[in-house]
Amino acid sequence: MQSRFDIGIVGGGAAGTLVALQCLRQATAPLRIAVFEPGEPGLGVAYATGRPEHLLNVPCRRMSAFPDGADDFLDWLAARPGFAGTPRATLAGAFALRREYAAYLRERLAQARQASPASLEIVPQRIDGLHRDPAADGWVLEGSEGRWRARHVVLATGNAPRPLPVRGSGALARPLLVDAWDYAGVAAIAPDAEVCIVGTGLSMVDAVLTLVANGHHGPVHLLSRHALLPLPHAVAHAVDRDFDVDALHGLGTRARLRRLRGQVRDAATRGLPWQAVMEAVRPHVQALWRSLPAAEQRRFLRHALRAWDIHRHRIAPEVHALLQGQQQRGRLHVHRARLDMAMAGPRCVHLAARGRDGRSVVLDVAHVVNATGMELRVQAMRNPLLEQLLGDGHARPGAHGIGLGTDAEGRLLDAGGGAQDDLRAIGSLRIGEAWESIAVPELRVQAEALARALTTSDTRSL
Ligand SMILES: Cc1cc2nc3c(=O)[nH]c(=O)nc-3n(C[C@H](O)[C@H](O)[C@H](O)COP(=O)(O)OP(=O)(O)OC[C@H]3O[C@@H](n4cnc5c(N)ncnc54)[C@H](O)[C@@H]3O)c2cc1C
Repeated sequence: MQSRFDIGIVGGGAAGTLVALQCLRQATAPLRIAVFEPGEPGLGVAYATGRPEHLLNVPCRRMSAFPDGADDFLDWLAARPGFAGTPRATLAGAFALRREYAAYLRERLAQARQASPASLEIVPQRIDGLHRDPAADGWVLEGSEGRWRARHVVLATGNAPRPLPVRGSGALARPLLVDAWDYAGVAAIAPDAEVCIVGTGLSMVDAVLTLVANGHHGPVHLLSRHALLPLPHAVAHAVDRDFDVDALHGLGTRARLRRLRGQVRDAATRGLPWQAVMEAVRPHVQALWRSLPAAEQRRFLRHALRAWDIHRHRIAPEVHALLQGQQQRGRLHVHRARLDMAMAGPRCVHLAARGRDGRSVVLDVAHVVNATGMELRVQAMRNPLLEQLLGDGHARPGAHGIGLGTDAEGRLLDAGGGAQDDLRAIGSLRIGEAWESIAVPELRVQAEALARALTTSDTRSL
């Protein structure tokens, strides 16, 4: 057995980093904190890209690491070389490079580490097992190179890529099949290659941006069941102050969406874009989700998810304009079809898809890019730790099988439904309970609340 910690954070992406940062800030005693992360801490999937074409999908004004310091990211950016003299309002509405955001998180973590009475150890390990400690309160964490004890554990294991969900894909490997989150793999695609990107969400946008940055001139196909592409943020930031959230509570999914569309029309009569209504609804999304009966939540997931996603998960206006330009110039061919089969040939991949009208789409491409996004169903995430927790009854799947079962404070529910004070989760694992639980504006609130609970409880009992 190696070290003992008061708080063990499993996963050091943005969410785990925010929890560590908050624990360091809020600690009033010399707590021992560990982050277990096999990759580079502070990056995770979203901020691991060093590519200059990859921008944040959220304007800088909303990317502070702290709920009580809304301007912190802006202050940090303004002090960076190259931003001196940029008007504050311009910075607030800008979309910074994602690699810059990683630098921000890491700098704030280093500062908190220096100033805190608590200590932080980064353990470069993947945790594959978590068992109740037979010798003391808390948990034993198992990695391939050791075992550690922690009084409290926070799961911050984040986003799992969804495998390409078709026959034949199991036999495909890089470079024929490239994951959209494999930023170097996408960048290595030859500019004249014929490419099919499966999925038309934010990961597709990243892949297209890299192809364009590399001067790609081969045909690029985009294929998805709905063929709906992400929509842009408004050029000028606005929030509909007349938005009436109470008018949505008590309604089912369909009626809520109808009412929301009505509010968008009403906002338009006052000169506001639809994005102003989405900005107004955003802080209420968790409460709105929780107030929907389970059958209505299922209806949302089945019928409204994709349309919701393109309105809610928006992209920078300049990125949207670039995509439109590519489409208008015939560089992107959008297919509304469901992929049925992907078969490796000697130098290409044969793809067969079927459109809604029964029309078949057949493509022979040099590379398939899997941009189907994140896997929400915890049992399909292929994360040994989560499988073990489910198997041992320390966790159960979240509502509708997405994420893990948690209460509103992020305590994991065990197989019997009991909330565990010493095992908590942050981020996408809480999606079944909270729905809106993935992006920084929610993560920072969860991290602050988790740290408050962990640093004021009897954490130091080992
Ligand atoms: C491409 C992309 C762009 C995005 N852009 C934005 C944006 O601009 N603004 C915004 O607010 N949100 C954005 N998001 C949402 C994003 O999910 C969050 O901002 C944030 O990155 C989520 O961080 P996370 O730590 O929860 O997950 P992840 O980034 O997935 O990090 C999880 C970490 O846990 C580690 N891990 C997993 N399992 C284990 C284990 N068993 N043991 C140890 N470590 C483990 C992984 O190695 C990983 O580093 C984006 C998401 C994606 C995918």
